[in-house]
Amino acid sequence: MSSYTKRVRDNILPLSVGGTLPEAFEEWSFTERTIDHGQPTETCQLCEQEDLRYHFQIQNNLTKHILWVGSQCILKFGLSVFEDGRRLSIGEAKKKLDRLTQKMRLESCIGALETLAQAEENKILSNALSYYKSKKYLSPKFAFVVLWRLQSHHIDHSPSFFKINLKKKKYQEDLRTMKLSHVHIIWPALSTSQRDMAMRMGHTSPPCVI
Ligand SMILES: [Zn+2]
Repeated sequence: MSSYTKRVRDNILPLSVGGTLPEAFEEWSFTERTIDHGQPTETCQLCEQEDLRYHFQIQNNLTKHILWVGSQCILKFGLSVFEDGRRLSIGEAKKKLDRLTQKMRLESCIGALETLAQAEENKILSNALSYYKSKKYLSPKFAFVVLWRLQSHHIDHSPSFFKINLKKKKYQEDLRTMKLSHVHIIWPALSTSQRDMAMRMGHTSPPCVI
């Protein structure tokens, strides 16, 4: 038995009724509870993988024990994920857990924006906060101000979680005419295709990005 399988067995069997892994896995389901720890500092209580930022809670339906695990373990071991009382297929379960991760990322962005709007009296920032809450993305100009001010105030945030909209012609034009140093501030928030677009416009990637 691999040390990985042994770890999983040692962690789950004492909390389950079933005596084998497949039997035990049948008893566990996702409870809908999640935690964003803010930093990748946590461990999966099932496989002991480290550096997790997000914890998903699972519960044994018979013993009522709970474990905090990574979403990967829920999918890998086929633990039950429900939606409106219906057990989801693996593909549907993956979509649901991905959506919950996106939601935690959105909430962490809004939390950082709220801290920022309180730290600095600035109409642009309070507008950016209400804009992000309703649209769930920023324009390139808003994104620059937000990420720049978050950095200046040393407010804990993950720049790559912010979403930027470049679909509108006006936003594309704003990016095209943006100073390179400003483009580099919003770079972590750009998706791969948005970075390609920026480079086609003549911008270059920041030197430190691999
Ligand atoms: Zn795990």
